[in-house]
Amino acid sequence: MLTVDLDAVAANYNIVKATAPGAEAGAVVKADAYGLGMVPVARRLAAEGCGSFFVAEAREGAALRAALPGVTIYVLNGLFPGTAALYREAGLVPCLASIDELAEWRAEAARAGTRLPAALHFDSGLNRLGMSAADAAAIAEEGALSAGVDVRLIMSHLACADDAAHPQNAAQLGLFRTVLDLLRPRFPAARISLANSPGVFLGPDYHFDLVRPGVGLYGGNPLTGRAAPFRPAVTVEARVIALRQLSAGDAVGYSASWRARGPARIAVLAAGYADGYLRALGRTSGEKAQEKGGQAHIAGYTVPVAGRVSMDMLAVDVSAVPEGLIRRGDMAELIGPNISVDDVGLRAGTIGYEILTSLGRRYMRRYVSEAHGASDEPGGPI
Ligand SMILES: *Cc1c(COP(=O)(O)O)cnc(C)c1O
Repeated sequence: MLTVDLDAVAANYNIVKATAPGAEAGAVVKADAYGLGMVPVARRLAAEGCGSFFVAEAREGAALRAALPGVTIYVLNGLFPGTAALYREAGLVPCLASIDELAEWRAEAARAGTRLPAALHFDSGLNRLGMSAADAAAIAEEGALSAGVDVRLIMSHLACADDAAHPQNAAQLGLFRTVLDLLRPRFPAARISLANSPGVFLGPDYHFDLVRPGVGLYGGNPLTGRAAPFRPAVTVEARVIALRQLSAGDAVGYSASWRARGPARIAVLAAGYADGYLRALGRTSGEKAQEKGGQAHIAGYTVPVAGRVSMDMLAVDVSAVPEGLIRRGDMAELIGPNISVDDVGLRAGTIGYEILTSLGRRYMRRYVSEAHGASDEPGGPI
């Protein structure tokens, strides 16, 4: 069972607004809103006043457009070759990341006999997507390069914002300012955007006109080594489908990698790596619960995973829970108020972002909200 707390998403959106009061708060809803479900999440954010959404790809943008006709939808991955008409028909704003993409968008505007909105994306040190300062100079100088293109947004993306002390933050800000100095005279109405979720916490110099949080809205902690500023928004629970009594030396799971040291009790839960509960969260007998391997919270106790995670099941060692407290059919929390998505990420050797975007499609999903009531997705085996 996967429960998405839409009130928490809304509260997190309002934390962003309060932290960057001078800027508009947009929302990044790519990858199905980091696994939470793009449409219900975006609808709730729109109800909170969000008018600018960011997706990664045009197909995501078209799906969002069908749900929210009135909002601005930016496509972060830019304009794929030969797809400009699709972007125009869905009313999408590509984040143009090269002079070639700008040329294709310009040609589409000419073909359609209209002006088309765009964001211009500049690289400031991430070396992933974005044009260079030299490209900015060319665009500033040569009006023909952007003919027919209505530049609404000028943006860049930070590489190290999770670490406020990292010198690359200021370096990227400096380079971005150089780009802005070049382009502002040509596009005086364009708005400016730099900050992702961690960038929101780097202070007002990084806020500009529009901030673009993603993971923070969904309850992930975007700050390395600092307390989470956001509220958890996702709870994943798995049902206890079997309880077993083991004797010393009995092994659990594939490869028999975990063995009971003495009499032990095991609860088998109905979730596995096919549900996005990563196999890396398994634990062999030698490993200490404090350091590695997943945990579940059940009957008020936090208990360690025992053995390998299977495709559809995992086992937890409930020997420390007084007998009789756990019954077949009970639910165990795998992610939620007691087990943060970031801790799960750490224990799996990854980050909370990847845990969220891996959340399985097989869970029954529930969207809850005090104000708007709960809605269950129909079906689901769990
Ligand atoms: C994904 C993404 C974001 C959001 O990042 P978070 O760290 O999840 O807040 C913002 N901008 C760009 C360009 C992105 O790709």
